[in-house]
Amino acid sequence: MVYLDYSATTPVLPEVLDSYNKVTEEYFGNPNSLHSLGVKSQELLESANSQIAELLHIKETEFIYTSGATEANNLAIIGAALTYRRYGKRILFSKMEHPSIYGIAKYLEKLGFVIDYVNVTAEGVIDFEDLKRKVTKETILVSICAVNSETGARQPLKTVRQVIRKNNENCIFHSDMTQAIGKVNLTINDVDLASMSGHKIYGPKGIGLLYKNRNVVLTPLMYGVEDGELHPGTPALPLIVSFAKALRLALTDLNKKEEGVRKLNEVIIAHMRKYPEIQINSSKYCIPHILNLSLMSIKPETFIHALESDEIYVSSNTACSHGKRSESVMNMYGEYKRSETTIRISLSYMTLPSEINEFLDSFDKHYEKLSKLK
Ligand code: PMP
Repeated sequence: MVYLDYSATTPVLPEVLDSYNKVTEEYFGNPNSLHSLGVKSQELLESANSQIAELLHIKETEFIYTSGATEANNLAIIGAALTYRRYGKRILFSKMEHPSIYGIAKYLEKLGFVIDYVNVTAEGVIDFEDLKRKVTKETILVSICAVNSETGARQPLKTVRQVIRKNNENCIFHSDMTQAIGKVNLTINDVDLASMSGHKIYGPKGIGLLYKNRNVVLTPLMYGVEDGELHPGTPALPLIVSFAKALRLALTDLNKKEEGVRKLNEVIIAHMRKYPEIQINSSKYCIPHILNLSLMSIKPETFIHALESDEIYVSSNTACSHGKRSESVMNMYGEYKRSETTIRISLSYMTLPSEINEFLDSFDKHYEKLSKLK
């Protein structure tokens, strides 16, 4: 099997799974219980919290565990919208967001918020002139992902923040960092709110995190025992501890791992250049872990299943867009065919050069066969 869909989800590392199992068995006490089993669990929870805070260079009071990035995005965006609506109704998103963000935008529109979308350039980066035009005194929140899940285009968050601040210094800035964390170096403090997910960093599914700068006040979306708690309920200790471990491992040797992935990405791009019809939807701003191609004359579903017959697994655009056209590619290039025929190859530091060779052999075999059928 050659798995090249790491941006959809990653396998859980064995040592992360070991932590999950160990905590499930040995720390089953509720961290809120007063007896010694509870205290033991509470101590472990505190040590996971401090490890995460140290790894992300944030304070222990500045993050909330969630079930994943979708929930973190909901809590950040809806929670901020409800708190700050007395200052304005405008919320701005980019045109390179994950589908889960557009779902939230639609909901906020129903609540009466005015939603706008900032354009991107052909290189997949925020159009700063458009951003300047669209951040007004009534804009209470801007949400722009760190890395786009379909093309890997990375946004310069620090500069984005400067532009936002120049127009409106009270505007909150959220970033969905799900596709960036554990792949490239990031400064979380460039934003006020940041979402991330365990299953994209070789951790378990069902755990994510929302970073929240201490000056930001979110309106809770759920209610429990403690007043104002943003994620009420018993802490999911096995998920939390294994998430902390996955995060530590993901951030180890980050630059070295990225360089390895870049080499693999370059091998694929060089190979694809022999096919004049194939478009490479990548710019110098894209991280090497995600490579998006437009096949142009072959349906991506057909091609994905052909590769699958050789046990090679890639995506069309994102796993969450269920085979619709790639909005990100459409927004970058404005070409229907190009956006409707995309495949996304997503790589890991674990991907071997031999796996890339196997993928390219299978690609050639199926491409030559299927392109003759058109
Ligand atoms: N945002 C981005 C950028 C993603 O890539 C994904 C996962 N495809 C999500 C959010 C949703 O993450 P989760 O599955 O943890 O809810």
